[in-house]
Amino acid sequence: MGKSENFGDHPQRSTVFNQDEARVDWHDKTLWFIREKRDKAAHQIPEWEELREQASQIKENVLSKLHEYLLQFEQRVLENGIHVHWAATPEEHNSIVYEIIRKKGVKQIVKSKSMLTEECHLNEYLEGHGIDVVDTDLGERIVQLAKEPPSHIVLPCIHWKKEEIGELFHQHLGTPAGNSDPQFLTAAARAHLRQRFMTSRVAITGVNFAVAETGEIVVCTNEGNADLGVQLADVHIACMGIEKIIPQRKHLSVFLRLLARSATGQPITTYSSHFKKPRPGQEMHIVLVDNGRSERLHSEDFKSALKCIRCGACMNTCPVYRRSGGHSYHYAIAGPIGSILAPGLDMKKYADLPFASTLCGSCSNVCPVKIDIHNQLYKWRQVLVKNGHVTGGKTFGMKGMAAILGSPRIFKFSGSVGRILMKSFPFLLNNKLNPWYKQRELPAPPSQSFNKWYRENKKQDGK
Ligand code: SF4
Repeated sequence: MGKSENFGDHPQRSTVFNQDEARVDWHDKTLWFIREKRDKAAHQIPEWEELREQASQIKENVLSKLHEYLLQFEQRVLENGIHVHWAATPEEHNSIVYEIIRKKGVKQIVKSKSMLTEECHLNEYLEGHGIDVVDTDLGERIVQLAKEPPSHIVLPCIHWKKEEIGELFHQHLGTPAGNSDPQFLTAAARAHLRQRFMTSRVAITGVNFAVAETGEIVVCTNEGNADLGVQLADVHIACMGIEKIIPQRKHLSVFLRLLARSATGQPITTYSSHFKKPRPGQEMHIVLVDNGRSERLHSEDFKSALKCIRCGACMNTCPVYRRSGGHSYHYAIAGPIGSILAPGLDMKKYADLPFASTLCGSCSNVCPVKIDIHNQLYKWRQVLVKNGHVTGGKTFGMKGMAAILGSPRIFKFSGSVGRILMKSFPFLLNNKLNPWYKQRELPAPPSQSFNKWYRENKKQDGK
């Protein structure tokens, strides 16, 4: 299966994932099922498109005045008795979190789902410093036990089958071998996690929305694991990217309606928990992380990627994501949105990702905050080519195509030659050196070009 031992770029990793055809088929269908659920939920709201427009405009406003909103948020948070920390890099974020834990003399913590902490590789960092971290979201716990990163931002273990989870739990939690009943496995995970909840003095959560007006944060989960962790802990650390800000509490009415419907087709997440101040005797910290976000704000072409509310809808609909699996993206955030965020952090390392798309535009169509994802994928390709971050073969191929498509005479001539070659020497194209041939055969060549056919038929019609 698509385990984390995969290495290489997106095409190489996808090749590994595609070796298990049954899994690809099932992964594809499962995610499409969620996409359809999203469609049904969206169609039940007559003002859906207005909500998307409002969400987009609120986020545009936030990005245009991010500095002001962040300072307002910080002031309110401090007034609410919460500690605020600023981190420019993942390293700073990790060491801030570790220092808080170390000062408490704690060796084990619980953590609810947070893509920011995945982005910063917090678990590895803390474990390297002797802290035992338990992810309490069930899907996250499954991939953690399997020593894998999540393959989807909302459904971290969507690439696992229940039989495999049964085997994993048998190995790690001692459940009976061969038992893959989801209800039984969920109960086993519940008992296992409950013990950790009861004994962890520090709880880390992510942040879905941070309200500048009130200084509160909102955390959305379906399992209530963030709430339980925080309520039982002496210290709550909330980690967020600086783009999570929304100006006012009333704006939640827009985002909460969009988020769950876009993510899983639910009307709302089971828990939308507001944390505004620590309860008596508790300590609360908020760590705000930049990690390239301020730099992204300067880019007119790419800054709107910061509007993302991490619903995962663009992944569920993407034909490439569904058939290549989340691990093939080798970045914390997979799929179309990951493919436009990652190159902003490291153009060379993630140069393959903007090409992992058909540019069909389905991602942009479903995005609840109207990010023009497919346009940005296309623009990233141009930036990567200009900066010399694509392979020689691809550059050569693109230059060749530009020469052919840029001249009607060369185009006509190439078409005639191509038709002869495809007809008389098909092996020149249908061979192992042609990556397309691995899964497709070229169609039979037409007897004449469209151009010729059109001219002849135009004559026949007497026009
Ligand atoms: S880019 Fe849009 S669709 Fe994709 S995860 Fe972000 S908000 Fe959802």
